[in-house]
Amino acid sequence: MKILVINTGSSSIKYQLFDMDRQRVMASGLAEKIGEAEGVLTHHVFEDGKVRSAVSHAVIADHRDGLTRIVDQLVNDQLGVVRDKSEISAIGHRVVHGGETFKSSTVIDSGVLAAIRQNIPLAPLHNPPNLTGIEVARSIFPNCPHVAVFDTAFHQTIPPEAFLYALPYALYEKEGVRRYGFHGTSHSYVTRECADYLGRPLEDLNLITIHLGNGASMTAVRGGKSVDTTMGMTPLEGLVMGTRCGDVDPALPFFLADHLDMSLKEIDQLLNKASGLKGLCGTNDMREVLAKKAVGDPRAILAVDVYTYRIKKYIGAYFAVLGKVDGLVFTGGIGENAPEIRELCCQGLENLGICVDVGKNRTRENGVREIHASGSRVLVLVIPTNEELKIARETKAVVEKGKT
Ligand code: ADP
Repeated sequence: MKILVINTGSSSIKYQLFDMDRQRVMASGLAEKIGEAEGVLTHHVFEDGKVRSAVSHAVIADHRDGLTRIVDQLVNDQLGVVRDKSEISAIGHRVVHGGETFKSSTVIDSGVLAAIRQNIPLAPLHNPPNLTGIEVARSIFPNCPHVAVFDTAFHQTIPPEAFLYALPYALYEKEGVRRYGFHGTSHSYVTRECADYLGRPLEDLNLITIHLGNGASMTAVRGGKSVDTTMGMTPLEGLVMGTRCGDVDPALPFFLADHLDMSLKEIDQLLNKASGLKGLCGTNDMREVLAKKAVGDPRAILAVDVYTYRIKKYIGAYFAVLGKVDGLVFTGGIGENAPEIRELCCQGLENLGICVDVGKNRTRENGVREIHASGSRVLVLVIPTNEELKIARETKAVVEKGKT
């Protein structure tokens, strides 16, 4: 069974084609700068452990044009991986916001499209391009099932005391104002991987999963179910991120408006695009932050302190939420590749039973690895995330369930 996974943004389409019988990626790529003066299509083919790539520059008029070019690449003579697009059995779509409507992945029909549309006010930047991607893909692949996999679905098990803001209740009832959480595909993927790696039933494991990429979030997982997470109604809440501030005093926008005469749009831009690591030390790329820190740049040192302190604070909070913690799981570009950050997040937590082995933590290896010291009450693991594979697996499961 071949499944195409699509992640559509406002000016881009990311894709991966999976051979699910062998659980491997056949091809992947990115159409970007859609609608701009010159578009770029990057395409990779994976065969026998080798990668072949092609980059083409040409106008990509709109998302339909983008997906048509992607399909052309997939069936192309030189870099194609299928003879005909009919070999693709299903399409999995990443959808950012499922609101309270979607607690799991689902086959897309007109009712599902309408519900995703209804959730646009909660994700005005993400759900519209996700919808465009679905509509275009349905017209290009009219005969195969399309499945929506939501970033929010894994967090629908969070109880009201954790998801409600202390605001007038009508705002929740009438407008859906509450904490939803995101990165659910990644948190649930590493939770499952952790249970499989340890050979323990998911139901017996309490985990704190820590996804540190450009966006960052943590989840308290009890017996395989999300019971709290750091992102809120939008992905702005919680941890310090590349360019997002995470938790701030909610009165901050009033100060910025009153004293600096900033508009709502400017405040939005400031908190989402000019804050986080970038705001503190001038760059949002953790590799650059750590390089600056290594040569003694005081702002980079401060940025890493603020970044890791926030994570440590939430580790403590989620210990209280879960009562018993079996494991911490680091994932995402930073969580998987920055030992220094993992070490600083766990420093001083020995009394909670968290002891990282410095040598194991610094060893560079691929795949799942344990980095706790022997005798550490809490296991500390690095587990590479794979959101696309998770979307492909969900798509396969939903399609097969539909057939029975
Ligand atoms: P996204 O959230 O866009 O998927 P990633 O999960 O790829 O992003 O994470 C991107 C972040 O990972 C960047 O801040 C990047 O600097 C960081 N990163 C990648 N490799 C390393 C590394 N070797 N050391 C430190 N940080 C790294």
